[in-house]
Amino acid sequence: MIPGSFDYHRPATVQEAARLVASLGEDARVVAGGHSLIPMMKLRMAAPAHLIDLQGVEGLAGIAVSGGEVRIGAMTTQHMLIEDAALAQAAPLVREAALQIADPQVRYMGTIGGNLANGDPGNDMPGLMQCLDAAFTLVGPEGARQVRAREFYFGAYDTARAEDEILSEIAFSGHAGAGYAYEKQKRKIGDYATAAAAVLLRMEGGRCAAASVAMTNLADRPIFSQAAADALVGSPLDAAALDAAVAAMQGDIAPGADTRGPVEFKRHVAGVMLRRAVARAASRA
Ligand code: FAD
Repeated sequence: MIPGSFDYHRPATVQEAARLVASLGEDARVVAGGHSLIPMMKLRMAAPAHLIDLQGVEGLAGIAVSGGEVRIGAMTTQHMLIEDAALAQAAPLVREAALQIADPQVRYMGTIGGNLANGDPGNDMPGLMQCLDAAFTLVGPEGARQVRAREFYFGAYDTARAEDEILSEIAFSGHAGAGYAYEKQKRKIGDYATAAAAVLLRMEGGRCAAASVAMTNLADRPIFSQAAADALVGSPLDAAALDAAVAAMQGDIAPGADTRGPVEFKRHVAGVMLRRAVARAASRA
């Protein structure tokens, strides 16, 4: 299908982009890599009268790692996340997850900002950022504010971002020395997750000293499972702890039946992903 007609805007600064979004109102949408929005426009599920292209906005793309802290501009592509050596060292979980998104063609265009702002529960970056306890910077007509990833998602395509705000930056602490894993089950290469688990953990004296767990595509939003993490902490990550973590996670997710399978199947796959992610993270801790 062919999208409806629209006016095209190409601002040079994030402030100019925010002013355009505010003045054009609900008829306007920003476009980043276009790999979620353009398909929706082609299907006429979105028909913005104005497209505000962020590709020409200065300073929105790039990765900075300093003192173990990571800052990523919203227009940074998934390919850039994979290629950045400093990011791979400070937060290897990001590279591991980005490599499992779609295929190289999509990753050359798709941005971390678009993936996070979209609010699609199938996207991989939102759960990942909840696991990392990232903070998002939103720029609007009144200036900038920060929202934590764990408080950003309300439901499918429903987030804490106001319509006149632009996501400009993502920040989180690196996890050097922690065990990490992103486990994703999908029907085929290029597909969204049937279920995915992001896990970070630290070990001390053979016991889990800290853990973070987030699940993808198992509810209408990414699920940060504090209960699953609590079940791991203090344990030697034995079978009983894994069973308890999976049971706790099952209490937090709410998958729906769709073309990826019935609810029971998704719950089963979610458990398998979490067990695998904890085991692999532990092997790296
Ligand atoms: P766009 O499509 O340009 O924008 C998406 C939405 O976010 C729009 O509503 C736009 O207005 C808004 N937006 C974009 N940037 C900003 C910003 N900075 N501030 C505020 N709002 C903004 N994703 C996965 O996570 N996992 C997958 O397995 C996966 N598989 C895919 C397979 C295919 C075949 C395709 C086409 C896409 C797939 N995707 C997948 C989605 C892909 O990663 C998208 O590129 C990404 O989700 C959106 O990023 P984008 O830069 O293309 O955003």
